[in-house]
Amino acid sequence: MRILGIRVDKIDMAAAMDFIATAISTFNEGTPPKQVVTLNPEGLYLATKDKTFAAIVENAALVTPDGAGLLWAARRLGQPLNERVTGIDLMISVCSRAAQESWRVFLLGAQEGIAQEAAFKLKERFIGLQICGFHHGYFKGTEEAVLEEINTAAPQILFVALGLPFQERFCALYQNKLNVAVTIGVGGSFDVIAGRVKRAPRFMQRLRLEWLWRLILQPGRFLRILVIPKFIWKVIQNS
Ligand code: UDP
Repeated sequence: MRILGIRVDKIDMAAAMDFIATAISTFNEGTPPKQVVTLNPEGLYLATKDKTFAAIVENAALVTPDGAGLLWAARRLGQPLNERVTGIDLMISVCSRAAQESWRVFLLGAQEGIAQEAAFKLKERFIGLQICGFHHGYFKGTEEAVLEEINTAAPQILFVALGLPFQERFCALYQNKLNVAVTIGVGGSFDVIAGRVKRAPRFMQRLRLEWLWRLILQPGRFLRILVIPKFIWKVIQNS
C-alpha cells in the first residue's frame, strides 16, 4: 500500500519472518542482499521530501510498518494494517529464530562497545545464537575495511543500527559488496538491547505512546519528532 505516495508493505510480524526465512533459504552467493526497511512516520515523511531516500524505500525487498502513526494513517486510508513491525521487535524475533535455525548474524552500529554488549545480552537470552561479528557504527572513511570484516565473518543476516536514513543508505549503497542474504535497518535497537536505553513500559506501548517515552528519555529527539504533526496533517489532507 501507499501512504503519502510512499510504499509500506501490508505485512505483520509472522509474514515478515516468513519473508526473511525464505530469503535465507533461497540465497545465492553473488546476489545482492534483500534489504528490509523498518519505516516509521519520520522515515516516511523524509521519503516524501528526499527522492534518493524514497527510491531506496521503493527498491527495498520489504518495508515494514514501524510505528503507531503508520497504523493510524493506514486505517484512515481504508487499508488497515494488522500490527506494527518495529525494528526492535523484528530483531528480537529474528534472533530467536536464528538460534533455532543456526542463522549467523552480524551487528553493525551504535557507539563503541554497545554492539558487543548487545551481542552478549542476545547470546544470554537466545542460547545457541551465532553472532559471528559486531562493529560500532562510527566508521566514516573505513567503509571498505568494515565491509571486508562483515564478509569474512560470513553472516546470513546483517543488522544495521546507524539510525535513519544512514542505515538504509548504507545497505543500498553497498548492496553489491555485501555477501549476505538479508540486511535489516534497526535504528536504536542495539542501545535498547544493551540496556543503555530503556524501552517504554508495556502499557505505554499498548496505548501507542512509545514515542512519548522516547522523548522523555531523550529530549534531544524533540526536533526530530516535530515532523510527526506535519505527517498527521498531510495524511488528513490526503484522505
Ligand atoms: N549511530 C551510528 N552511527 C552514526 C549515527 C548514529 O551508529 O553515524 C547509531 C547511534 O549510536 C544509535 C543509532 O544509530 O545507536 C540511532 O538510534 P536512533 O534511536 O536515533 O534510531 P532511529 O530513531 O533513527 O531509527
